[in-house]
Amino acid sequence: MGDEKVKAEATQIIGMFQVLPRLVVFDLDYTLWPFYCECRSKREMPSMYPHAKGILYALKDRGIDVAVASRSPTPDIADAFLDKLNMKSLFVAKEIFSSWTHKTDHFQRIHSRTGVPFNSMLFFDDEDRNIKAVSKMGVASTLVGNGVNLGALRQGLTNFSQNWNTSEKNKQKWVSKFSQKPNSSKEQK
Ligand SMILES: [Mg+2]
Repeated sequence: MGDEKVKAEATQIIGMFQVLPRLVVFDLDYTLWPFYCECRSKREMPSMYPHAKGILYALKDRGIDVAVASRSPTPDIADAFLDKLNMKSLFVAKEIFSSWTHKTDHFQRIHSRTGVPFNSMLFFDDEDRNIKAVSKMGVASTLVGNGVNLGALRQGLTNFSQNWNTSEKNKQKWVSKFSQKPNSSKEQK
């Protein structure tokens, strides 16, 4: 399937959801491209997973921002590859640095750079430990098995809707708890 065909299908999938993320964050290695960039040379011409480009462009066209969170120890190679793929200007934030935390510091930085709340973000990554750590922050996080593809997009947007509905329900619970009239409480005599 060519990039345009993937983009059209991705647009259709995105159109099926009523609530959408404001920002979608992607890991690089084994999520957007099928290799560890630390094992490659800057002189090589990289290629992404077959659906990755079409999905990124469909999100952008729908007004959804995209960002990168990668723990690569070679940000210079990652940057060079994004440049070669003409992807550099696509991302509103690119946090590429190695870290012992499982991307929670990457997400803090993305949040302060973009102002987007965690529950308005969707994250794709191929490592379970990153997914666990980042979902604890309130970000809808989706594990990808074989790179990001149309199936993963659908799964991710479903996760996002569920995560959003849960956080909205919790918010309403708090609002109704604190908006109760003080004289209705038993402690008040
Ligand atoms: Mg990875």
